[in-house]
Amino acid sequence: MTRVGSLAAELRERGVDLLLIAAPFDVRYMTDFTGSNGLAVLAAQESGPHRFLTDFRYDTQSAEQVPDVFTREIVAVDLLEAAVRALEPRSEEAGVGRLGFDDSIVTVKQHARLLELLPAGWELIECGGAVAGLREVKDDSELARIRAAAELADVALREVLEQGLVGRTEREVAIELELRMRRLGAEGPSFPSIVAAGPHSALPHAEPRAVEIPKDTLLTIDWGALHDGYCSDCTRTFATGSLTEDERDIYELVRRAQEEALAAVRPGPSGREIDAVARGIIEQAGHGEHFGHGLGHGVGLEVHEAPRLSRTAPQKALCAGNVVTVEPGVYLPGRFGVRIEDLAIVREDGGESLSGLSKQLTEIQ
Ligand code: ZN
Ligand code: ZN
Repeated sequence: MTRVGSLAAELRERGVDLLLIAAPFDVRYMTDFTGSNGLAVLAAQESGPHRFLTDFRYDTQSAEQVPDVFTREIVAVDLLEAAVRALEPRSEEAGVGRLGFDDSIVTVKQHARLLELLPAGWELIECGGAVAGLREVKDDSELARIRAAAELADVALREVLEQGLVGRTEREVAIELELRMRRLGAEGPSFPSIVAAGPHSALPHAEPRAVEIPKDTLLTIDWGALHDGYCSDCTRTFATGSLTEDERDIYELVRRAQEEALAAVRPGPSGREIDAVARGIIEQAGHGEHFGHGLGHGVGLEVHEAPRLSRTAPQKALCAGNVVTVEPGVYLPGRFGVRIEDLAIVREDGGESLSGLSKQLTEIQ
């Protein structure tokens, strides 16, 4: 089924007549429009009418990108307001019209304004997650693009590692990595790269510093490419020489937790259950308190999207076509941290990792 067809069916299921689609990545997913100001109004009948609204700046671009199933409107005012102002009042015989909106992104102020503008016979219905739910399951063309992004990111890191790490600053390595991803065809990094050595690696979201990477320490690199609109995400932790026994032990612990959780990825278990596999192993080793974040997240048009793999994730089964990361970490404040992350497709017969770099502890000076 087409995306429009699938979403229309979802709206009928929810008893909604029209859905306002305002989140930029949702708009892109439904209409292929890549500009910054677009809004779609999707009807619960697959045959439409479906509307697409943008402003003057995007007239030509939207004409090229947005398929004919949407009627295009170029408006000079706020898109949400324009969409609602154009609704016809409903007669009593027609029954109340139900206008769905995404309550996870419409602000309280916008909501109040929509209520003011809503014509007679219409009501607003909270309809968050309708498009996000479709986006969780990737089609073949999306999987191909995510795979290409992951491969490109791997090539870029390999090239950077060939030049060595010790003596270069974290910032230099991050900039070099992002430059190489662009040269290889990426639109850019899918998020700001993390390059963190020694005690700095104990910060899960460390920012690269203008500090030289020393010998004989752990170095975490978390990076990804944005390619053809889709993201990749991967983390490896390297040794820059000889390590202490503690550092090696923690590395092996995280690797074991990562590999066992990845092996548990398949249709059926929830993100919460997969999280528990890695967390159980880390807790048993006495480091539960040093693994303070969730195990992973979905990846697609956005680098962090549904489904989540965490202690608080919904008890919803993973299904074939999900793309998720598996990224346990152990962080010892003031000492060091280790994180290992793979990006994986949920296949009928298990998780297929898209991350090509070895997870054996690798020494790079
Ligand atoms: Zn990452
Ligand atoms: Zn991640």
